[in-house]
Amino acid sequence: MRELEILRTWLEESRRGVFFGGAGVSTESGIPDFRSVDGLYHQSYDYPPETIISHSFFLQAPGEFYRFYKEKMLYLNAAPNAAHQKLAQLEAAGHLKAVVTQNIDGLHQAAGSRKVYELHGSVHRNYCMKCHKFFDAGYVKRAESVPRCDVCGGMVKPDVVLYEEPLDNATVESAVKTITQADVLIVGGTSLAVYPAAGLIDYYQGNRLVLINKTPTPYDSRANLILTGKIGELMEQL
Ligand code: NAD
Repeated sequence: MRELEILRTWLEESRRGVFFGGAGVSTESGIPDFRSVDGLYHQSYDYPPETIISHSFFLQAPGEFYRFYKEKMLYLNAAPNAAHQKLAQLEAAGHLKAVVTQNIDGLHQAAGSRKVYELHGSVHRNYCMKCHKFFDAGYVKRAESVPRCDVCGGMVKPDVVLYEEPLDNATVESAVKTITQADVLIVGGTSLAVYPAAGLIDYYQGNRLVLINKTPTPYDSRANLILTGKIGELMEQL
């Protein structure tokens, strides 16, 4: 595939590459995305997923929230796939500076990536809303219904950015800085529909913008290179 050849060359020449990704990066690890045909937005629940994973719903109906969250968003046995692994290797080889991700699954770190900006937080960090004690994801998964702090009884909340909640400023600033300085920007496995995260790629100033996705995105016309297909399968061939 000619596009793979070009990407291979660009990555070999790159010293400040950045990867910006979304839920599609983890579908080959068995974690469903939101907007694919078999994604969570096309299954039926009592409430639309956007409602369930919002800040106000979390406070009003934590039991319902956690039922959905534990069943559909906590995949603690998922393992990194070839895309996560290739990105970690590219960083170790000095071609990639950072991964900016909308994912909350921690699979980039599990694959060995060191510089990961998690725009939407992580399922692996959870805090008591009262005393701020830390809990891991296993504690949340094992809780019968709503996880409660074992010290003060406060409700435990995942450090995940819910709808209606702002992104963490420091994380956004670091992501903007690394994208602004990138020589190659690879955008993969994201529908680029969730703002403000998707808007971050506007900070890229170079002319090596690469899109890797199964389906078209609103940014296709601006890309310098498009690879269509499954990101794990494609990156494995790099
Ligand atoms: P999305 O569901 O809106 O879009 C996923 C995109 O990836 C689609 O365009 C789809 O065609 C593409 N895709 C799916 N599998 C692919 C594959 N194997 N190879 C290439 N492309 C593939 O996801 P989004 O843009 O990341 O936005 C959804 C929000 O959902 C994000 O904010 C994210 O935080 C959250 N989310 C995270 C996870 C996770 O952590 N794994 C899972 C679901 C949703």
